[in-house]
Order: sequence, then structure tokens, then C-alpha cells
Amino acid sequence: MPTYHIQTYGCQMNYSDSERMETYLRALGYKKTDNQKKADLILFNTCSIRQKAEDRVFGQMKKIENLKKNNPKLMVAITGCMIRNSSSRYSPQRDKLFNKIRELDIALKTEDLSCLASLVREINPDIKIPKIKEENLKDYFKIKAAHNTFNSKTQAFLPISNGCDKFCTYCIVPYSRGREKSRKIEGILKEAEELTANGYKEITLIGQTVNSYGKSCYDKDNKNFEKLKNKDPFVYLLEEMDKLRKKGLERVRFSSPHPMDMSDELIDAMAKLKTQMPFLHLPVQSGDNNVLKIMNRPYTIEQYRKIIHKLRKKIPDISITTDIIVGFCGETDKEFQNTCGFFEEMQFEHAYIAQYSNRKGTTADRFMNDDVPQKIKKLRWEKLNNILENQSKKALKRFIGKTSHVLVEVQKGKICTGRNEHFKTVQFKISNKSKKRSEKYSGKIPGKIVPVLVTGSKEWILEGELRI
Ligand code: SF4
Repeated sequence: MPTYHIQTYGCQMNYSDSERMETYLRALGYKKTDNQKKADLILFNTCSIRQKAEDRVFGQMKKIENLKKNNPKLMVAITGCMIRNSSSRYSPQRDKLFNKIRELDIALKTEDLSCLASLVREINPDIKIPKIKEENLKDYFKIKAAHNTFNSKTQAFLPISNGCDKFCTYCIVPYSRGREKSRKIEGILKEAEELTANGYKEITLIGQTVNSYGKSCYDKDNKNFEKLKNKDPFVYLLEEMDKLRKKGLERVRFSSPHPMDMSDELIDAMAKLKTQMPFLHLPVQSGDNNVLKIMNRPYTIEQYRKIIHKLRKKIPDISITTDIIVGFCGETDKEFQNTCGFFEEMQFEHAYIAQYSNRKGTTADRFMNDDVPQKIKKLRWEKLNNILENQSKKALKRFIGKTSHVLVEVQKGKICTGRNEHFKTVQFKISNKSKKRSEKYSGKIPGKIVPVLVTGSKEWILEGELRI
């Protein structure tokens, strides 16, 4: 039986894609190995949002060269954001990555997963892998992640769309994943129901701009959404997901929304639906209108501020986090100061702060100058990161002395870790006293939502004790 090893980089979407790739590889008769040395096929599921992420893949190639010396039949495939053209090393029209990576055998666009079998046969015509007949392995959206491929047994990622129509000038996603395509509502709900039946308590709906679900140019003529008339398709989906509460689903999150699609209807639904949690990660990218314009982010900080005010009015204790890029093309000191000021004003509780790096093929790459010196980018990152650390510490303090409801993910001896309603990591100890009490949970805490009295905080996490 041939063996595979997958290495995943990047966002939740990539991890979710890898779960589907594993299902497909298993259908081909491949068996998983955690040891690259024992693999017949090594698949890198890549991210090219930042240069650093790409460099990590290139950095692996020396090791791969050595592995190939010991196992000449080893196949190396790269999938994800770095690929534009699904092809093998023998295809007439090969992906450009073949010019850079000698060890590469297969380049695979994520949505072309069903081509993997034929690309493998192009490399090794003698390989014994079955022909995929099942209809539901041909359409990427119909490939279900086998439950035993999930990293978590308590919370699952569920893709609802793929690709992006927004074309931010710094981003490669609309070119690598293509235009946004939404998945059918029925298919999403069926998968969500199966996950719930298998004990998953939390589902995170994912898409590049998850809240534009059902509104892309491809969806306009889609009969699937016609019946909704004027209703926001994403809100409809959240309402339908909420009905799964009766079957045991407790929490529904979504990632990542775009500010332009944060409708009032969506904010109302977040406030009203029981499965919605008081947490939102809403990327702003810059706190300066001129930079937003150059980034092709089609909103102003005034509009963003309005959304946050509405959210805080309807959900007063909501935790809000964001993404910021510092040092984008032409960003002046004054513009960066505006970002710092806006960051403090919005009191973001956490953020992914990135130093801008040019991505080949983007609008910024073709028409703009990456002219902020690396040293300045680093200084700006440090300054904003210091503000973030202070705000994050302050945000954690508000939980101390209160009860958080924690969905327990891991238990190591007497220490349990999980996330609370606000998506904060909470670590707690099971004392002898609470162990006795926890018998209420038949001794098994992972996978349960338990009340925890928060007693303190350390760096980015909360600490507490089981309260039953
Ligand atoms: S919204 Fe912008 S940053 Fe996000 S995936 Fe689309 S183009 Fe990229």
C-alpha cells in the first residue's frame, strides 16, 4: 500500500483543504505516515500570502533532495496558493514553479484535487492505484473530510466557499484560488448535521470572504440562492445552522468576514442566534483611508468604525480581533500613526500583524513600489505589537473572577485546555475536589463544554479552575 505525508502551511482554509485531500488519497489506496522518510508521496499544501510562508516550502527542498536519493520513486507534490496550473513534470504546459523547484513532480490547484490520480500516473504509469469512480470525489466541494483526518475532535472547519472576488492589491488569492464560488446550502447543512451527529460541538464556517457567501458573480444565476429573494444568503445559512442546536451543535463561528459584507441583518443574527458566540475577527488591514484605498479595500475607517459600534451596541461584551499590514507600498509615518491610533480606538483584543511583503503577480507587484525600507517595516511592526500586547492583557483581565464556558480540546493529566465563548484560550487544572465534581462528566472532559472560574491570565491565555 503506498503511503503519503501531508505538510500544511497557512490559514484554516488550507488545513481544511488538507483534510479533504486526505480523504481523496485514502480513496486512492494511500495510507498516512507521519514520517517523511517512509512516504511514497509528499504533499506540501502551501500558502503564499507572505514571502516567509513560501520560503518555508523552498527551505524543505534540500531535505527532499536527500530523500529522493534514498527513494527514487518518491513523488513530491505542491498544492495550495503557490500553484496556478495543475500539471506534472511531464505535462506540456507546466506550472512556473517547476522552473524554481527541481525536486517537484506534481503541481496541483486545490480545486483540481480530482486530477491528482491522473497526475500521479503521468509520473509513474506502473503505480497501482484504483480509478476513482465515485461521483462525490470529482467535485471538490463534495469531498467530505473523513472524520478521522480532523486534527480536533471537538471543533471542525467547514468550507462554504472558495476563491475571492475582492482583489485587494497586495493579495494573490483571487489569482491562485480564482473567483469566489459558493457551495450549495444543502451540502453544507448535510455535512454540518453529520459533524454534529459525530459529536462535534463547534463548527467554524470558512471562506476567503465568508460573509459574501451566495453573492459572488458565479452565484447570481445560481438557482440555489434564487428562493432566498432579498434575504442575505449568509444570514440564512447561520439561521439554518442554528437549528442544529436541537441535535447537539453548540457553537457556530465564521472566518474571515469582509467589512463590506457586514450587513445590519448579519449583526442582528449574530446577536440573536444562540449558537453565535460573542467574538468576531474582522480584518481592517490599515487604519488610514489613503492606505485602504491603495490596498483596494473598498471601505473607509469611518464605515469600519460604524460596524464596530453597531456590533458593540447589540453584543456589548463582544471580543473583536483583526488583521493589519504595516509598511504597505508608500505608507508614510503619518499614515502608520493613524493605524496605531485607530488600533487603540477600536481596542482590538488580538491581531495578526504582518510586515508587507511583495507577492509576484499581484496588482501591487505590477504597479506599485515596495518602497518602505525593511528596517522601518520592522520598527512599525514592533510598535504596533507593543500596543497589541497591552490591549490583549487588558482584554484578558476582564474575564478574571468570572465564569467562562470552555469547550475542552485537550487534557494532559490534570491540565485541560480549550476555548471560551470569546475564543480565548483557557487552561485549567482539575483539582482533587473538582475531579470528584467532574464525575458529572463521566470522567472525560475533552469534547465537553464546562464552566471554569477564571482566576488569572498569563501572556495570551486565561487560567482557572473547574467550577461544577
Ligand atoms: S478579501 Fe482581499 S485579502 Fe482577503 S482573500 Fe480576497 S483579495 Fe485576499
